[in-house]
Amino acid sequence: MSHPTLTLNNDVRMPQLGFGVWQVPDGRTAEVVGTALRVGYRSVDTAAVYGNERGVGDAVAASGVPRNELFVTTKLWNDQQGYDNALRAFDASLERLGLDYVDLYLIHWPVAARDRYVDTWRALAKLLADGRTRAIGVSNFQPEHLRRLVGETDVVPAVNQIELHPGLQQPELRALHAELGIVTEAWSPLARGGLLDHPLITRIARRHGRTPAQVILRWHLQLGNVAIPKSVDPERIQQNADVVDFALDDTDLAEIAGLDRGARVGPDPDTFG
Ligand code: NDP
Repeated sequence: MSHPTLTLNNDVRMPQLGFGVWQVPDGRTAEVVGTALRVGYRSVDTAAVYGNERGVGDAVAASGVPRNELFVTTKLWNDQQGYDNALRAFDASLERLGLDYVDLYLIHWPVAARDRYVDTWRALAKLLADGRTRAIGVSNFQPEHLRRLVGETDVVPAVNQIELHPGLQQPELRALHAELGIVTEAWSPLARGGLLDHPLITRIARRHGRTPAQVILRWHLQLGNVAIPKSVDPERIQQNADVVDFALDDTDLAEIAGLDRGARVGPDPDTFG
């Protein structure tokens, strides 16, 4: 069954489930992404800093899936911020991916201390206008960074990719995204495995005859998030893709809402970079 899609603020459609490849070694990426594409993923999330854009490109080329049915995201690394740097970094990513365009290009972190993200954003707006990426967005942007981008450039990011899982539900950012028309994309959607043996999650999973990972991914879809789980294990890759044929009920959703602890598994965007 194909994955549901969300419509971005420029009418581009993005699959709600994507395959994340952080920490997948470049040498294994073609095989692992190949598995993901075979079991039904149509969206892949990489980044220049992951060092595996070539592997992603190889998998795309070998898959036989028409390019216009795929959604490829990559990201600009922190040391490449600035207008000219960003344009150059984009060209290098595209070359490594072996593609003519990407579907989504993101600023990976705001790095607010260096204060180059607004100029960087203007470069992404140019890439969008030139048709080199179908959509542009940001990652790890806090409310004040989003407000500044919109205030100074009038270009609203299509997506903000942030750490989000039942232990860190990000109510403030999700509300601002809804107000501005930004899609919320969840990184570390499974909290890197940290919540898979939580008693509440395992109980809900048993009730639905599903795995804990499937319950958490289904929660993301019902919240309206994009989620990009990573796995190198073929069975888990398949399992994480099979979340479209069941639904959590209101009680499940209310119980999971109670798990928010504001607990990060990754770096703090206010200080990272
Ligand atoms: P995830 O929440 O996706 O968890 C991945 C971990 O969970 C791995 O250890 C994996 O192990 C395990 N796992 C996956 N599926 C299952 C399952 N069904 N059952 C049991 N264990 C499972 O965390 P990530 O940090 O990898 O985040 C996902 C993606 O988000 C990244 O790949 C990247 O694309 C993106 N990301 C973006 C960031 C940003 O700053 N923009 C920061 C961090 C991540 P195994 O592989 O052995 O199955």
